[in-house]
Amino acid sequence: MRTIGLIGGMSWESSAEYYRLINQQVRDQLGPLRSARLLMYSVDFGPVEQAQHAGRWDEAARILIDAAQRLQDGGAECLVLCTNTMHKVAEQIQAATAVPFLHIADPTAQAALAAGTLNVGLLGTAFTMEQEFLKSRLSQQGLNVLVPDAQERQAVHRIIYEELCVGVISDASRRVYQQVIESLRARGAQAIILGCTEIGLLLKPEHSPLPLLDTTELHARAAVDFALLE
Ligand code: GLU
Repeated sequence: MRTIGLIGGMSWESSAEYYRLINQQVRDQLGPLRSARLLMYSVDFGPVEQAQHAGRWDEAARILIDAAQRLQDGGAECLVLCTNTMHKVAEQIQAATAVPFLHIADPTAQAALAAGTLNVGLLGTAFTMEQEFLKSRLSQQGLNVLVPDAQERQAVHRIIYEELCVGVISDASRRVYQQVIESLRARGAQAIILGCTEIGLLLKPEHSPLPLLDTTELHARAAVDFALLE
């Protein structure tokens, strides 16, 4: 089994999900007492979040490159960046390290295509919904990506930072997300990408009028596939 390197802490609420999902999948595949070989470097999210909102992406990249190099030095054989938003600096991390970087958009696009779904709605932080770093990688793989309108994007973003990243799960916010999904459906979306690693804590498949593509689950599965590849 190869050793997975997780760059976590953004937020730790979702990093804990990665840890759980990866170990569950290894147990399901290899047997009851089997578990993943993995390292996690969990950053302090505070300075990263401040750098994001101030547009100081190079500063955030430096923090993540340091984490990635420590994982590599510790024996990680791949890198899994446990946040969609910070894939904005994925290329900088890749350029500074030698082990494979498992990009979160790739298993997500593959899952959408495997389901025959070309029109996908994307929920995530404003950075992820409004900038190109994730959307372009999804569209390069054949997907047509729809994002919520400006007011909806603001609500989706606020709930991520003020609630989901601090462990608050509320019915009222779930209803907001359901309404946003309804309007994406009316515009032609066939499935919804949960393009923020905390949204799966709030929205389960039974809450959604459309099928969900949860990046946390798909990314964790890709990490396990890599670890168990002969
Ligand atoms: N975990 C979130 C994501 O997947 C948001 C937190 C962050 O900004 O990294 O985008």
